Amino acid sequence: MRGPSVNTDDRAPAPQIRISRRALAQAEARAVSATPHELGGVLIGWWEGDDVAVVDDLLSVPDPRAGHTHYERHHSAAQRALEDYLQSTSDLNAGYIGEWHSHPAPQPPSAIDRGALTSIVRQVRQPVALVVLSVTEDGKVRPHGLIGRPRWPRRPRRATIEIALVETMSQ
Ligand SMILES: [Zn+2]
Repeated sequence: MRGPSVNTDDRAPAPQIRISRRALAQAEARAVSATPHELGGVLIGWWEGDDVAVVDDLLSVPDPRAGHTHYERHHSAAQRALEDYLQSTSDLNAGYIGEWHSHPAPQPPSAIDRGALTSIVRQVRQPVALVVLSVTEDGKVRPHGLIGRPRWPRRPRRATIEIALVETMSQ
């Protein structure tokens, strides 16, 4: 359980990824049952400023070749999942805000994950969130968050990657 975060000084707030408790619980259950394979997909939600990603849903995008340490999102499958979702929702604020996948072992985002996030930021030229759900040895799930963003609006080829605090929301 984590309470609401409180800023106790004047530094810039740490980047945050706030996830619907219901959607996170569903994705965690899927991640646990997919072990020893990885599972993943796209994050649906919106941004509150540049520092807070609000995740309303974690869509799964099947990858038939998913292995122990490998999840490769297929662009066309992801696009279909996204379009189906957007047609089924009345929430016009919600859209693609990033990616997620599971690690069937207690491992945080890897160097490969950071590299993949950097290349997505370069492509879309806007902030992108990454959530990694690490499955621990006792079958629990620990969420990790990263936020990548273009370093400067005029230098979109450069990306900054920061660790984000993952919070859950009751909605
Ligand atoms: Zn990974």
